[in-house]
Amino acid sequence: MKPVAKSRTPRRRVEEILLNGPATIRDISQLAGMSEKDVSSHLPHVDKSLAARGQKLTISPYSCVSCGFVFESKKRFKKPGRCPKCKCERMEEAVFQIEG
Ligand SMILES: [Zn+2]
Repeated sequence: MKPVAKSRTPRRRVEEILLNGPATIRDISQLAGMSEKDVSSHLPHVDKSLAARGQKLTISPYSCVSCGFVFESKKRFKKPGRCPKCKCERMEEAVFQIEG
């Protein structure tokens, strides 16, 4: 993956990074030069603009590092705070990918 030009709007940068291939929120934050929190807040909008063009943002869900609990929600863009099962706060990163 290659860094994206800074001249674009943040949302557009997030979208372009995802068009280059699958990425985690951490990957996107590094490539786009914004915080992970900002990336999470842009993703729902990126999802909507993709849907308008007949594309889809797919997510391999977050899971708990310690017990393997999977956060099944298909629209979970934000990293979960802690595992509801074992209360562990370490999560396996979700991977975002554009389809279509
Ligand atoms: Zn757990």
